[in-house]
Amino acid sequence: MIRFYNTLSHALQPFVPLDPGKVGLYTCGPTVYSFAHIGNFRTFMWEDLLRRFLEARGFQVHHVMNITDVDDKIMAAIMESGRSLEEVTRPFEEAFFRDLETLGMKRAHVYPRATEHIPEMVDLIRKLLAAGLAYERDGSVYYRIAGFKPYGRLSGKDPKGLMAGASGRVEADEYDVKDDVRDFALWKAARSGETTWEGLGSPGRPGWHIECSAMSMKYLGESFDIHTGGVDNIFPHHENEIAQSQGATGVPLARYWLHAAHLIVDGEKMSKSRGNFFILKDLLDKGYEVRELRYLLLSVHYRRVLDLTGDSFVAARQNLARLDDFVRRLGREQIPQGSHSATAAVVEGAVRRFHDSLDDDLNTAGALGALFEMVRQVNSALDRQQVATAEVAACLALLAEFEEIFGISLGQGEEALAPELVARIEAREEARAERRWADADRLRDELEAAGVVVEDTPTGTHWKRVPRE
Ligand SMILES: [Zn+2]
Repeated sequence: MIRFYNTLSHALQPFVPLDPGKVGLYTCGPTVYSFAHIGNFRTFMWEDLLRRFLEARGFQVHHVMNITDVDDKIMAAIMESGRSLEEVTRPFEEAFFRDLETLGMKRAHVYPRATEHIPEMVDLIRKLLAAGLAYERDGSVYYRIAGFKPYGRLSGKDPKGLMAGASGRVEADEYDVKDDVRDFALWKAARSGETTWEGLGSPGRPGWHIECSAMSMKYLGESFDIHTGGVDNIFPHHENEIAQSQGATGVPLARYWLHAAHLIVDGEKMSKSRGNFFILKDLLDKGYEVRELRYLLLSVHYRRVLDLTGDSFVAARQNLARLDDFVRRLGREQIPQGSHSATAAVVEGAVRRFHDSLDDDLNTAGALGALFEMVRQVNSALDRQQVATAEVAACLALLAEFEEIFGISLGQGEEALAPELVARIEAREEARAERRWADADRLRDELEAAGVVVEDTPTGTHWKRVPRE
């Protein structure tokens, strides 16, 4: 049974989709006025894992991710630079898609742009006006929070508490003609120099929150299964999405709301002034590989804060090297036909724990723990020649599942050993066969200096690379 922690109910809940076998998934996308940073990619990467996990469990997932190409920051960038909205946003949108591809993320089925869905937003605002949940002031339209009883349920905030002395917690809005300080803008009246749209009496532009309500419902229906984002989206963004959508339709927008915790760097909040602010290119330029980054971002449970450090990269590299070595060893050893019951039990236990962990609110750390315990025990069973073909097949099946769900390839990309190193390995085997131990030891040391460790096992001599530090 799959369980997710639902922010809306503040509890772990069994996952039951509206339509058996199908999942409607909405993930809040980037605001394209700058490059997405590695904290954004922690959330996007976890969403990729969620999608891959659901698909591996046999669900047909329909995944929608919006592109926010109109909001306050984009307007500010347009006013500052004198460039058009497209000139400001498209280069960052293209960069975002390049990064997704570099990171091996599955593409969403739809990437709606906010600017291409203004009529849907206007319709939704009209419904809210008709329902008395919105009102117009000086050409802008605001949402009347007092009219929506469940307001605050997602974030656990008391709507009354948002009122007085809490201005810092309420979205700062430059328009101060609202009936109530808590109310937020659905439509912002045109100001000189801004890109504006018609449709609501006075020209203007949509507020950020209405974008996601309109686009999620257009592509996934009034009610769908899962809505995700980072924890900083819970309030006000997702709280407001619920108020807008449910206020207009009378039915819940999404049934499961999942949120990823923050990413910090070397124990500190990422910020440009601290010099610990990274976009994807910065990390690739440091020499980190994409699969190391994927492993690192996914190895920590999504509801825990992830601390990105140099050590965590070294650990990711070493752990992947262990898995690579194991895959290569399974492909290389002479394995007898049949099954070895003790080892079969070890592998079965690991498979069960791997599945149970992921089913339990995507506990990736638990799943990886099960995988590495299997590698350790099967390696030692291989040393004792207690592994047969059935166990090898079961191990490879679990490793293939890991590769699919984590989006990481194992045992590949390893370039062949340089010919002079192969010659040294052969020379060492010859020396051992002829009992010239001093020569064999010298060759072993030379290989180690070149980053290659040789191991003599009952099934022959094997080599592996020493993980780079
Ligand atoms: Zn959103």
